[in-house]
Parts: sequence; structure tokens; C-alpha cells
Amino acid sequence: MQTIPFDNTYARDLEGMYLPFQGAVAPDPALVWLNDALAGDLGLDPDMLRSRAGLAMLTGGAMPQGASPLAMAYAGHQFGGFSPQLGDGRAMLVGEVIDRTGQRRDIHLKGSGRTPFSRGGDGKAVLGPVLREVLIGEAMHALGIPTTRALAAATTGETVWRETPQQGAVLTRVAASHLRVGTFQFFYARQETARLRRLADYAIARHDPDLSGAPDRYLQFLHRVIARQMALVAQWMAVGFVHGVMNTDNMTISGETIDYGPCAFIDAHDPAAVYSSIDQQGRYAYGNQPLLARWNLARLAETLLPLIAETPQDALPEVQRLIEGAETLYLRERRARFSAKLGLADAPDALIDGFLDMLTAQGADFTNSFRALSPGDDAPLRALIGTDPRLDGWLARWRGMNPGDGQAANPVYIPRNHQVDAALTAAADGDLAPFHRLLAALRDPFSRRPGFDDLETPGTTHIVTYCGT
Ligand code: AMP
Ligand code: MG
Repeated sequence: MQTIPFDNTYARDLEGMYLPFQGAVAPDPALVWLNDALAGDLGLDPDMLRSRAGLAMLTGGAMPQGASPLAMAYAGHQFGGFSPQLGDGRAMLVGEVIDRTGQRRDIHLKGSGRTPFSRGGDGKAVLGPVLREVLIGEAMHALGIPTTRALAAATTGETVWRETPQQGAVLTRVAASHLRVGTFQFFYARQETARLRRLADYAIARHDPDLSGAPDRYLQFLHRVIARQMALVAQWMAVGFVHGVMNTDNMTISGETIDYGPCAFIDAHDPAAVYSSIDQQGRYAYGNQPLLARWNLARLAETLLPLIAETPQDALPEVQRLIEGAETLYLRERRARFSAKLGLADAPDALIDGFLDMLTAQGADFTNSFRALSPGDDAPLRALIGTDPRLDGWLARWRGMNPGDGQAANPVYIPRNHQVDAALTAAADGDLAPFHRLLAALRDPFSRRPGFDDLETPGTTHIVTYCGT
């Protein structure tokens, strides 16, 4: 096999913070989907990835030269409760490559077998949820939202039991890194301050290299992560994305969205929207995401206290100031995103909220309502929320601000739950056509195209989503 120019800093620089690991050998590996465009960006030859040796790598059974396969240690707050040891229980880092733009990217597998972090789990993943990660990751990328992406989906030839027998599968995931809030929590909880410092310096070198060596780098680093995450969550909100499992182990340091398990996009606008079967209290409801992201960032801040000053008391005031400032950062990002959706440079919050309130009251589709907004023609919007008594007043105020065309910020196609579900059900039965069709629409979400009319239709029933990838 042609060699891959790996450059594995995680393995090299963070010894003692992961476990070397070999994946399980898949009995009958088969490629289901390959992201040729992403392979190209990474400088990887798609034909090599399609070869027997390539497929062995993409399912975890045999690693090419230069890989340094490992399972990462991390902890995490899951639904508010702290788990001191999670880690890659069914995932592994294959290695890192430098992409065509000079960015370092992790190549990572999910579903590649049991690791020392597996606890009671089987270490496996199944086809439907793996293809779900493909669809949502590509959709997010096309929407311009920072995200991990799928390089490949492959079946293993193994039957994996969930509620029913399923086809075992492995997702190859590409990420700016797999550093999580939970990675910091792992070493903080164990009071391993030297390792914590090594981890933070590593993260800084990787994501904020301009801070390397600065005396106040840990504080500044915290500020950067907060800014990235607040910008990210504002982008989620602007497309109606509900992550569903915003545990601290699923929040990255890079600011990329990670872990498309029970996520969903809202149809009707509803701040209380919850899809995940396990989110009984609505902790991670659509409208709660900014708050919960800040909660997670406060957990990251705690871990950095020992690095920021001699005593936590000395570090606390500055850190608190940053955490309190997160809300302002979020509101600024939100205003920017929603202003663009209204075709305005800087919309007042009251105008944004006024529009959203009408959508909520009318049970109107979030995506289609924004798309229906047009400075020259009321009719499409009236067809959706025309019965709202506030509409005329709102339109007059909006028009008074001279709005432009907001279509570049308002997608036509989003991965609607019922369509994702239908595509994955067909894929499990061996029919990949609906998956490919949906993917084609999602990869170019802002331009309406013939033949995809049905993909604009909101779901009529509430679909529950599951974590069990
Ligand atoms: P997630 O909900 O996917 O973010 O996973 C949370 C934690 O559970 C991580 O440590 C995973 O590695 C672990 N995990 C989830 N599913 C499995 C599985 N089937 N086998 C082993 N570990 C798992
Ligand atoms: Mg996770």
C-alpha cells in the first residue's frame, strides 16, 4: 500500500495520556461510501483507500506504516453527572496528516472494537448511525459550520446486536483534533497537573499556536475556546440544529461539532424541541444549547485553574470574567447570524425575536419560513404565518430597514429527521439510492434544484433519536 505521510503528534507528545491500541479484524470488510473530495483535501489517494489494505485500515484491522493507533483517555460530565473515566470505548486514533491547506487533521475510527476504555460496551458501531454521521457531517460542512467529517463508511461483515441484529460498521472520522473538554477533565480529576499542563500546551500548539509561550497563555486559550464554542452554537441555532448530547466529552477544543448521535434539525420552531430518547429532562433542548455550552465551558475553566495561577483563588476572578463574558460573545454571534438570515447587516434583537415568536406561535417550519422571507414578495411568508396578527407590523419594521436577500444564509435543504430516517432504513435494507440522493441535496443546500421538492417538506410526526451509534 502506498504510504500515508502520518505525523503523529498525539502519540509522540502525550505519552501516558492514551493507550496504544489495535482494532479488531473485520471478518468481511466492504466499503459502503468514500468521501473522495475529502480524501483529496487530505492528500490521500482514493484508490489506495479502496484497496484491500486501505479497507483494512478503514475498518481498524490492520494499520499502514506510520500509523500510531491509540485510544484516548477522557472523562466527561454526562447529563450533569461526572464520569471520571470514559475514553475511546469504541474508537481509535489512526494518526494525523497535514491537509492541502496545511491544517493538521486526525484520522479516527469509530466502531473499531473494544478498547481498555470500553467498560460494558461492545466497541462496535452499526451501519445506520454511521451513515447518519456521514449525512449530518457533510450537511454541516456545506452549511459552513465547523464540523468533524466522515472520510469513509465501511461494513465489517459482522452482525452487531442493538435492539435488533444490525450490520456492524466503522466510520472513519476526520477532525481538527479529538481534544475535548473531557480530555482536560480526565487529568484535572486525577490532580495530574504536570500532564494537564502538557495537554494544555499541546492544545495551544495545535489550535492557538500564536499563544505558545505567552505568560498568560492558559487564560487566553480559555478565551479562544469560549469564543469558538459560542460562535459554533450560534451557528447551530441559526440552522435549527439540536446536538442532543452536549456532554463535556462531546465538546471539542477546536470548535468543531462532534458526535452526531441523537442530533436532529427542528422542523417547526420550538425552543423546547428535544429528540433524544435519553434526554428526558430536556437538558439539551434546542433553546437550552447556548446555556449548556456555557456550563460546559465553565467545566473546562475549572480544569485550567491550577495552570493559570498558584492558587485557584488567584485564578478565579479572571476566569469568572471570561465565563461571564461568554454570554455577550454568544449574543453577538447570534445577532450576526440571524441578521444575515433576515438580509440585514445588524438587526435589533427585538426584530429577530419578533420573527421567531411568530414562528413558534404558528408552529411554522423554521427553515422554510426564513427561506420564504423576500423583500419583494410577501406571499411565500404569508402562506406560512399569514394568520399571525403581528405579521403586518413586523414586515413594516423589517422593510423599513431595507433588507437585502438573505438566501445565502437560509438553506433550502437540511437533513430533516424523517428523510434521514427513511434514507437510513433503506440503506439497512441494501438500498443506498435515497442516502445518495439526500447527500447530494445536502452538499449544496442553498440552491433550490429540480427533483428535490419532497426534501423541503417538514416531518409530520415527532421522531425520537437514539445514541446507540
Ligand atoms: P457517546 O455517547 O458516543 O459520546 O459515548 C460516550 C462514551 O461511551 C464514550 O466513552 C464512548 O467510547 C463510550 N461508548 C459508547 N458506545 C459504546 C460501545 N458500543 N462500546 C464501547 N464504548 C462505547
Ligand atoms: Mg462521544
